[in-house]
Amino acid sequence: MLGVFRRFVFGVAVFSLIAPAALAEAGEQWSVLHVGRLLAVPGEAPIERATVVVKDGRIAEVLGGYAAPGELAGAREATITLIDLTEAFVTPGFIDCHTHITMEMSPKIRMEWVQLSEADWALRGAAYAKRTLEAGFTTIRNVGSNERAAFALRDAIEAGHVPGPRILCAGHSITPTGGHGDTHGYREDLFELPTAFQGVADGVDGCRKAVRAQVKRGADVIKITATGGVLSATNAGTEQQFFDDELEAIVETAHLLGRTVAAHAHGTAGINAALRAGVDSIEHGSLLDEESISLFKKTGAYLVPTLMAGEVVVAVATNFPDEFPAAVREKALMIGPAMMKSLGNAHREGVRIAFGTDSGVSAHGDNAREFELMVEAGMSEMDAIHAATINAAKLCGIEDEVGTIEVGKAADLVAVQGDPLKDIGALKEVMFVMRGGEVVKK
Ligand SMILES: [Zn+2]
Repeated sequence: MLGVFRRFVFGVAVFSLIAPAALAEAGEQWSVLHVGRLLAVPGEAPIERATVVVKDGRIAEVLGGYAAPGELAGAREATITLIDLTEAFVTPGFIDCHTHITMEMSPKIRMEWVQLSEADWALRGAAYAKRTLEAGFTTIRNVGSNERAAFALRDAIEAGHVPGPRILCAGHSITPTGGHGDTHGYREDLFELPTAFQGVADGVDGCRKAVRAQVKRGADVIKITATGGVLSATNAGTEQQFFDDELEAIVETAHLLGRTVAAHAHGTAGINAALRAGVDSIEHGSLLDEESISLFKKTGAYLVPTLMAGEVVVAVATNFPDEFPAAVREKALMIGPAMMKSLGNAHREGVRIAFGTDSGVSAHGDNAREFELMVEAGMSEMDAIHAATINAAKLCGIEDEVGTIEVGKAADLVAVQGDPLKDIGALKEVMFVMRGGEVVKK
């Protein structure tokens, strides 16, 4: 894909007389990227013709014009790879705040829940993580997964055993008994009675315990199902499921332990109750009213719209009517179209939007389709990219690490052809991905 991918070795043989500090210097690996158009900070205009210098996995310099590698200070002691992106548009790596990385919906999924093991889910997750990374998503927030598979995947990626995006991991969604996130429509003896570790919790004490159990297991973030869900096989609807004191107990406990709370919520009363309890984001946010919008603005919570989930469930319910149980089909046809309208309203009113797809409901690797839907819902191309970089990084609490191409941050970069500020669909054809200074697609 790349025109030129050259390696310059300026370093000379290193002898034992050289001091240890100099030895370290001599081994430095740099990447120097010549970029046609660089959107270093989404929201600001792109820089035409820029050089990005990457050292030790981080952005070391961002310079105007194409700097010759040999002229950079300290270049003589380094091994430099020159990466030619002069024909490309480069953005910070994308962040998807709503994925289910160890599963993917298919007609077989209801059988798979009772057939597959944690090991099966983890290995599938490794394949999905690679697809996600190669689609330009260098960070994901995984909000709801099986027992330990997603934690194992997160840790294996971090240790370098398998390729994938950096993962912030929620563990099990916390749900009341019978809520979205509990099991539905199966013989009860197929599943052991769920505990706080499986995220099923009732009452203030139960909710506190469920948060603590997820954190004990390694959760970076807490996911709750504040309302019913489209895909749970129950006719309990899509309205509020936790009592207000339960929601408050979850938020207080999570914040006490330094974790944010992502609340799945479709129905208006449930969205508003979750916002009043102080959640950090509303996931889906399908049916917003004026009060929801003012609560968002008052609390500073983010909306993570997941328009792809709406698109997929409507398509399945329309084209494959037998694939969903009747209760699911009815909810899908009602909720799907509402999401687009709610995002349009929220964005116009100044609600902070962070990018999320619900991948796993849609296919992993197709994540960039969400950009097109966001623009269709009324966001500008720049605002959609801002939602998937700066805003998503802020929601995840990692804005010092990722979200822009600035000195000191992790070198997470994505290159596409064309101009995504004019045609957002260009982001679906990623030609180059760097994560933490390592080229993972070229
Ligand atoms: Zn989800």
